[in-house]
Amino acid sequence: MKLNEIKSILAERNILLTKSLGQNFLHDQNQIKRIADAADIQPGEQILEIGPGLGPLTRELLNRQAKLTSVEIDKRLVEALEVLFENEPNFTLKHTDALAWLKKEPQNWDDWKLAANLPYSVGSPILIELALNEHPPKRMTATLQSEVVDRIVSPYNTKTYGVMTLLLQARFKAIDKFKIPAGCFFPEPDVESSCVTLERYPEPLLTHDELKTYVQLVKLAFSQRRKIVWKLLKQRWKPEALEAAKDQLNLDPMVRAQAIKFEQFVTLAKALHQSPQ
Ligand code: SAM
Repeated sequence: MKLNEIKSILAERNILLTKSLGQNFLHDQNQIKRIADAADIQPGEQILEIGPGLGPLTRELLNRQAKLTSVEIDKRLVEALEVLFENEPNFTLKHTDALAWLKKEPQNWDDWKLAANLPYSVGSPILIELALNEHPPKRMTATLQSEVVDRIVSPYNTKTYGVMTLLLQARFKAIDKFKIPAGCFFPEPDVESSCVTLERYPEPLLTHDELKTYVQLVKLAFSQRRKIVWKLLKQRWKPEALEAAKDQLNLDPMVRAQAIKFEQFVTLAKALHQSPQ
């Protein structure tokens, strides 16, 4: 979809874009193809797109024979999309708030992939919601603020390593990322954008119940980054359980959350999950 096409649809329909909904539309065909390549669409595959806007990525995904479900919050865009894609048998359009819908109606996303240029205001909670679902998608390719992507792929012992990194790493490995220049969007966003691809591990590292403990553990450990982890965890677990886990992992009694590796958080969650409340 070219820039003048986007502008003329907006003008014809008297649509003034809403900044709070992150309405920055991608009009660079090379970047759209790059996102679709990263999403690795196979013909007939079920793809979820959140925030189709006026449908530039939607068109590319349908050209690659995806069985596509797109979720858009803005009625004015939904009406435009219904006209643009009226003859597409493989296209399902939902008019709703994607985050509220994902929370309210958790689904089995086992065989699905996400391919989306996400609304930046709700991009992180949407990815986390999908990642922590009992049945997360097999792959997620998403465009977000570069700052969020940096947090997702962050190594331990850095300022950007934290809750976002660890909640997504619980189920996914980041396998690819690339920057998308601001000039590829209309209007140009004030922040830098990057596309990241996350691939689900072949086997889950934690059961769904262990995952709940892991989420509590990670959130509490990073609730005050500068504090010694064990002091924070005392709010939730008994001292004996924490002592046993500390010995099992051979962790420093003075350790802060950012110095604990992802694999150590997983082991710690498994140990604490078994301990009495
Ligand atoms: N995919 C399009 C593109 O690349 O040009 C548009 C991307 S734009 C960054 C984000 C889109 O998400 C907008 O169309 C916006 O209306 C929509 N949106 C914002 N919040 C949403 C939400 N909570 N649920 C569903 N769609 C949302």
